[in-house]
Amino acid sequence: MDTQDLAMSSLDDDYLTVTLLAAGLTEIVNRRAQAGSGEPTTGSLLPPAWRVGFARLWLRWAELGELPAWSDLELMALCRWPMASWPVTLTLADADLQHSLLDGDRLTAFAEQGARFVGPDVEASWTEHRVYDALRRAASANGGSPAETYEAYACLRRFLIDHAVVDDRQVMALGRRFGARDNTGQTYVQKLIQAAYNTQPSTERQRFQLCSRCGNVVTGRRAPCGTAGCVKGGPTRFVDLDPLAVVYELNRATRRYIHDPGLVEARLLDSLSGDDLSGRIRVTPYPLLDRLDVLVEFLDGGGREPQVTETWGIEAKDQVSAPLLGRLFVWPDDIECDRRILALPMHRARRGTYVADLRAALDGRVNDVDVVDEDRLIGEVRKRARELSR
Ligand SMILES: [Zn+2]
Repeated sequence: MDTQDLAMSSLDDDYLTVTLLAAGLTEIVNRRAQAGSGEPTTGSLLPPAWRVGFARLWLRWAELGELPAWSDLELMALCRWPMASWPVTLTLADADLQHSLLDGDRLTAFAEQGARFVGPDVEASWTEHRVYDALRRAASANGGSPAETYEAYACLRRFLIDHAVVDDRQVMALGRRFGARDNTGQTYVQKLIQAAYNTQPSTERQRFQLCSRCGNVVTGRRAPCGTAGCVKGGPTRFVDLDPLAVVYELNRATRRYIHDPGLVEARLLDSLSGDDLSGRIRVTPYPLLDRLDVLVEFLDGGGREPQVTETWGIEAKDQVSAPLLGRLFVWPDDIECDRRILALPMHRARRGTYVADLRAALDGRVNDVDVVDEDRLIGEVRKRARELSR
């Protein structure tokens, strides 16, 4: 969808205005990063999304009977303040009004989620696309059958969630397990690592400090972990890497769009793979190359060959704005499921009106999807497994 289509789309409300502003800011921030430092450029060089967002906000203010006289720079300054404090009262969920679009010169998580609605973060989406492409290629080159391909995909994707930093010895070990090579002699695993990680030459042992909860690298003793759901100055652990020549650290786009949202998927998969459920359910991570996050099949263990009696599909989503998540959410229709579940991490579900806002945004647009937090979901799977195995 281009900017004009978006401006005319049925989502003709203040969410569209702020997503356009966020998209424009993303482009401005990217341009500034490319050009080095300095003040934001103004005038005709401003991105179209910004100009349309600006115009919409201007009209909203003019509706109040006052002709606003602010400049682009003044509006950019306003973007550093929570939207609740803007001179125009925006119709957004209360929780979203507490966000700003910029934190200093960086985009906030809310702005990043909004900008992806319009889709101009070219560098991030290019990297993300390249990583998914490398994942699929590595999986299909290493799978002798569809089932093996799906298993390789899930295993390699989980590697990216479990490893924010790795050394070349670990990558070589992974390459021995998934050994297929392209016609240049390079393993597909190596190509995946190059797409997802930044490379640092190193021949010395290195110690990294990681957040105990999310596994991302933190620097300094009391350093805040920027990952959603993590606590400032929370517990950390150390990992020692012993590279032959290279250490790899996840690049920003992979961390932000694959690793961090993948943490809730990984927690669900680990809980569902516990001994207490063994034999009563079959858990498939990222079935059919990622049509869903998790497929849970309840088994009737009575016969020799277990029969599937019921199927639950799970999509796990960790996003800052519930209304934006609800408006963009689509249920993937490829897999038949008796129950469709949108699972939320606890740090989102516990927050104020998040669940109510999400249900309101889904209502009438996406039907038959249950919004459930991760803890309750695990409890419901256990309960259902007991009921079905009676
Ligand atoms: Zn963390």
